[in-house]
Amino acid sequence: MAKHLARIHGTEEDKVNCPFYFKIGACRHGDRCSRIHHRPAFSPTILIKHIFKHPMREAELQAAREGRSVDGIVVDEAKAREDFLVFFEDMYVELSKFGRLDALHICDNVGDHMIGHVYAKFSDEEEAADALNVMNGRFYDGRRMEVEFSPVTDFLEARCRDFDEESCRRGGFCNFMHIKPVPMCLIRDMEEDADEERRREEMERAERRRKDDRRRRERKSDRRRRDRDRDRKRRSRSRSRSDSRSTSRGRGGRGDAKE
Ligand SMILES: [Zn+2]
Ligand SMILES: [Zn+2]
Repeated sequence: MAKHLARIHGTEEDKVNCPFYFKIGACRHGDRCSRIHHRPAFSPTILIKHIFKHPMREAELQAAREGRSVDGIVVDEAKAREDFLVFFEDMYVELSKFGRLDALHICDNVGDHMIGHVYAKFSDEEEAADALNVMNGRFYDGRRMEVEFSPVTDFLEARCRDFDEESCRRGGFCNFMHIKPVPMCLIRDMEEDADEERRREEMERAERRRKDDRRRRERKSDRRRRDRDRDRKRRSRSRSRSDSRSTSRGRGGRGDAKE
């Protein structure tokens, strides 16, 4: 029974857990879904919701603002591609400050439940938690970032293979991730830069720690010296007091003896 439940967990057969939320971290029914969206308390993956400005949605909003019809709007593909790569680099730089990124995926889907989603998978859960705590609520390009842990750890299960082969017939409204392609050489370059940056920061931190330790040691030895000096002075004062007492007693004694 338990084995059976484990096998069907998050699949179409599972009538309790939502397979879409389990696999993709997003389901078109949202909070009204009849199955459970089990939100993880920890995960190496975070989801920054709707943060990428999809060029199609932006063009529609622009047309609406100008009172134009949204039918037949065209997107400048070259500019959109350039904007996307700038966005990707921005995200990569910001996120890699928290740790090594195993994956950074930006969705090309246009369905309301997935549009502009950014998934970042770190090499460990602690790094993901740091990123979530710092990024959540911050603003990027005028948008407040809403960040949550995502159940997605295997993007092979989440991504639409048809999109990868440029043959998805569901287009932007597909419920599997349409992961925007990024040139491998760009990712490798960014990885190297991020590694170097983390190494530099680690060295700076170690240097700061060394300096702090030295200062602490110096302060301690200063304190010890002061304590020793004070003790010495106290001892010599008490010696001189007892000396003077014994001298006066001695003199008295001698005086008594004389009388
Ligand atoms: Zn669902
Ligand atoms: Zn698809």
